[in-house]
Amino acid sequence: MAGSLLDGKVALITGAGSGIGAATALVCSRHGAKVMVADIDEDGGRRTVAEVRAAGGEAAFVWVDVRQARAVEDMVGSTVERFGRLDCAVNNAGVDTAGDGRFHEVSEESWDASMGVNLKGVWWCMKHELTRMLEQGSGSIVNVASVAGLVGIEAPFVSPYIAAKHGVVGLTRAAALEYATSGIRVNAVCPGAVRTQMVDDLISQGIMTLEQTAAYHPIGRYAGPAEIGEAIAWLSSDAASFVTGVPMAVDGAMTAR
Ligand code: NAD
Repeated sequence: MAGSLLDGKVALITGAGSGIGAATALVCSRHGAKVMVADIDEDGGRRTVAEVRAAGGEAAFVWVDVRQARAVEDMVGSTVERFGRLDCAVNNAGVDTAGDGRFHEVSEESWDASMGVNLKGVWWCMKHELTRMLEQGSGSIVNVASVAGLVGIEAPFVSPYIAAKHGVVGLTRAAALEYATSGIRVNAVCPGAVRTQMVDDLISQGIMTLEQTAAYHPIGRYAGPAEIGEAIAWLSSDAASFVTGVPMAVDGAMTAR
């Protein structure tokens, strides 16, 4: 075990069936947390649970579609039922809906698909997590936004995603203020490009190339998913006890320009 950053904590991670969420589950477990893996993709979620257990950690799976209020409520309920409490919630589930055209060509369907998961899904999760954390009198929420929640990106096709991620940063700030005196911290991480299925899809659709995207980052490369997981684990931990309301760039200095 790497240390005691999250010893005794219970972490709930949405979208933990692949990519950043799966890596975050492993990182949080290595830091001592018990992990509830939530995803719409049951196979992926169960794979993550198996990986956490194989590494000596404790994890369970719960199915969720973050667009469904009832399923989100059940996800929080199952976490408390299984592990007794909810200390750290990581709202990571997200979809890339690029490929629909430039701003003026984007369809209502594409707009709704992005907003439904990337923004309203986070809102549903926060509502139910905050309800539980208020009962407990403590908790930490980390929303996975994006550099696209801080700045525009010089690529066509992504305007609904940029709008949704800016919205996630807004939800983060609003909740941080409302619950600042309730023992609940609310932050966001804003990753640059991370080599996951989502980025591979954008590359295969011809929307970006590996080289172009690496060049966006002054550090000269992509992030690995675990590098985002480490930032999430720290923000989730008591080591970050005075940090709330922050959209933290984890982007190899991309937004420092
Ligand atoms: P990914 O596609 O590998 O993982 C996303 C996960 O979310 C999948 O397991 C998927 O099944 C799950 N999911 C999708 N819709 C869902 C729903 N309705 N309910 C529950 N689960 C659902 O993608 P990733 O790259 O790991 O992305 C994770 C998060 O990080 C997303 O919010 C994404 O916007 C954000 N992000 C990614 C990058 C990147 O470069 N990969 C950069 C910045 C931010």
